[in-house]
Amino acid sequence: MATIMDGKALSLKLKEQMKQRIAQLKQQGINPKLVVVLVGDNSASQVYVRNKHKSCGEVGIESEVITMPEQTTQQELLEVVERLNQDETVDGILVQLPLPKQIDEKTVLRSILPEKDVDGFTCRISADERDLMPCTPAGVMEMLRYAGVAVAGKRCVVVGRSNIVGKPMAALLLQADGTVTVCHSKTRDLAAVTREADILVAAVGKPHFITADMVKEGAVVIDVGVNRMAEKKLLGDVDFEAVEKKASFITPVPGGVGLMTIAMLMKNTVRAAAQQTI
Ligand code: NDP
Repeated sequence: MATIMDGKALSLKLKEQMKQRIAQLKQQGINPKLVVVLVGDNSASQVYVRNKHKSCGEVGIESEVITMPEQTTQQELLEVVERLNQDETVDGILVQLPLPKQIDEKTVLRSILPEKDVDGFTCRISADERDLMPCTPAGVMEMLRYAGVAVAGKRCVVVGRSNIVGKPMAALLLQADGTVTVCHSKTRDLAAVTREADILVAAVGKPHFITADMVKEGAVVIDVGVNRMAEKKLLGDVDFEAVEKKASFITPVPGGVGLMTIAMLMKNTVRAAAQQTI
């Protein structure tokens, strides 16, 4: 039976550490501030933004939510981002995805100053400690570290190649000296590849997509997937009940990677605030 990697406990621990760091910064006159821009009325996004705002309050980060209507033009959004780029009181800018159809996500994300991009989407994943790491993959790395799972030399398989999760996840595992394979919808005989994995990361967006027969005995299984089912039930990309019996470590959904993503957002905001005032 696998050990559960408890994202809730770890994120609470990190938040406690952050509270202390923020209190120190405030004594130096540094007041970390995050601005979240929410465009349109996607109900899942509204929940995510509320949670981020609440978490900021818990650790002492000042946060503001700017809401813009569904029909907002790209130019209007770019103007808001530019204003926030120029505003010295703002340390972190987060534009909640997805954006309405008329707006090109890449153009908007690229317009955020890298030193304020607390989602870490524009990060190049270098060994530079000052870079703000993409939150979800950074949260996964933190969970692996905390569980004492060494990545170096391990076979890592990431299922999913999005710019937000799959690709930066693969880059961070590679940076940690893992031997990394990235799978996607065109991968042939996916199960044969995933069965090779010592560390398997699922970021597909399909409920219970990773079944027990796709997992090697003793593998570490990380479930990034968040699939909203009927009656507000959340399911991961991994068939938790069956895979738990084979894996050595596994993350639950909910209570796993999602909470770590928010904790990493807070961490990036604090780091951005500390760096921008140097
Ligand atoms: P995307 O839809 O952007 O990417 C999904 C990836 O899965 C694509 O690369 C796609 O391949 C691949 N894929 C789809 N079907 C298959 C298949 N049959 N076999 C192999 N690969 C397949 O999703 P995201 O990366 O944005 O998100 C993935 C999941 O993670 C979602 O459930 C999302 O809600 C969740 N998420 C969770 C976060 C958290 O904090 N826990 C944060 C962000 C996302 P291809 O490229 O070929 O289309």
